[in-house]
Amino acid sequence: MTLTKKPESRPAPASWGLAAGEHPWEYAPAPEATDHIRIEPEYGLFIGNEFRPSKPRKTFTVINPATEEPLARVAHASKADVNRAVGAAHEAHRTVWSKLPGRERAKYLYRIARIMQERSREFAVVESMNSGKPIKESRDVDVPLAAAHFFYYAGWADKLEYAFPNRDPRSLGVAAQVIPWNFPLLMLAWKIAPALAAGNTVVLKPASTTPLTAYLFADVVRQADLPPGVVNIITGPGEIGMELVTHPDVSKVAFTGSTAVGKMIARAVAGSGKKVTLELGGKAANIVFDDAPLDQAIEGIVNGIYFNQGEVCCAGSRLFVQESVYEPLLDKLKARLGTLRVGDPLDKNTDVGAINSAGQLAKVQELVESGIEEGAEIFQPDCELPTRGFFFRPTLFTGVSQSHRIAQEEIFGPVLSVLTFRTPEEAIEKANNTPYGLSAGVWTEKGSRIFKMVNAMRAGVVWANTFNRFDPTSPFGGYKESGYGREGGIHGLGAYLDLSGNGTNGR
Ligand code: NDP
Repeated sequence: MTLTKKPESRPAPASWGLAAGEHPWEYAPAPEATDHIRIEPEYGLFIGNEFRPSKPRKTFTVINPATEEPLARVAHASKADVNRAVGAAHEAHRTVWSKLPGRERAKYLYRIARIMQERSREFAVVESMNSGKPIKESRDVDVPLAAAHFFYYAGWADKLEYAFPNRDPRSLGVAAQVIPWNFPLLMLAWKIAPALAAGNTVVLKPASTTPLTAYLFADVVRQADLPPGVVNIITGPGEIGMELVTHPDVSKVAFTGSTAVGKMIARAVAGSGKKVTLELGGKAANIVFDDAPLDQAIEGIVNGIYFNQGEVCCAGSRLFVQESVYEPLLDKLKARLGTLRVGDPLDKNTDVGAINSAGQLAKVQELVESGIEEGAEIFQPDCELPTRGFFFRPTLFTGVSQSHRIAQEEIFGPVLSVLTFRTPEEAIEKANNTPYGLSAGVWTEKGSRIFKMVNAMRAGVVWANTFNRFDPTSPFGGYKESGYGREGGIHGLGAYLDLSGNGTNGR
């Protein structure tokens, strides 16, 4: 018989008598290594599988928003460059890509997905350096989901007839894709994967602040031996995006960004016969009933609004709490905010990184000031911010009324407006009182209540007892000023196909 010695009992450390929200210890720095990352000093436009300077040769600087240091210079495309890129895509569609059997296109997509997985660390580090998002998010969310989109749509490439029976699905031609800076690689994958699976070729314009993972993806395109011209990537200001989407040889337009630019694009291409998908802003309601598991709801609220610094179109920026649980929930939420770590995006312990640009930070600050001026009460944890870079404290407002700007306008930052309700009907009415309709969340243990709320809320996606969950198989898109069309799933595939049965679109 073996006798084990009982451990000696030790006095509990003084730090165990902690108040809610206090850290038992300070986190040591856990920086992600960057020495394996190669960012070129300059990137040309990616046209026909070659990096080429713009004509005339012109560049602009891309910076790291967490340090304000320059990262690289990228080509500033001209109208002539848009013509070159669309020309290359048009030719590749006509001569190669539209003629390949679906199973051959699928092989390329699988290859891209696997290379992205192999190079995932590189993608995650570059994404965090360029966008300001925490490495744990780029590593665990953006990059795996981007690869998953390529895997998912690779699976559809040879099954278009089964996806849309009796509709003679055909590719459209050249897709013009303009994407934003909040999920640079993921938005690229949402756009390029279904387009290629459906047999189209693409010209993609990333946001001017975040082109680096798109150019890293261009390298993957070459590594995967994709035929030249199937994927083209050009950088330049908004006007270049407009040149691209209005180009006569473009058959499909996919845009993600602000509602203002989405409306301009819709007007510019109206009547042109181009198929259009617009994924625009949002002001989601996250609704917590008094029977919800509060601790889980707190995590969902935090994930809903502080994930990616709140720079998320479907962010749960309006929290509606049933009055009977308002006080305990608010106490827990404030304590939880005190534990969020704000700072270096490349530190693996960071929860909230840098805002993407000085301009976006100014927009967040202006809206927060409007909240104070209009009489709402601000709460921010007492955390230190780095001295350089575009950082903003996680913020919540109480005493918010529905007419306040912070309850109406998309802030696109780590700012939560807390409101209350008494009955489900009141919650529905308040939740739908917005020009947007992209997403919503509901927290309750009653299944019947979930179904009632989901049916009554005018939002493209409604999460129940969770928030900000994404999957390539699931369609995503909005109502009202949040845009139209769906991305993801079979719906996202249909958006890149001529399903009229007469094949008139493919040029
Ligand atoms: P924009 O809509 O201006 O930018 C999104 C993309 O559109 C970028 O690639 C941009 O290029 C391009 N673009 C800009 N102007 C035009 C144009 N006239 N024609 C065609 N393309 C154009 O958004 P912002 O970056 O200015 O952000 C402003 C606000 O928009 C944010 O605060 C947020 O509220 C919302 N937004 C919503 C997003 C969403 O996911 N739904 C994403 C990003 C922003 P460039 O970068 O060169 O200007």
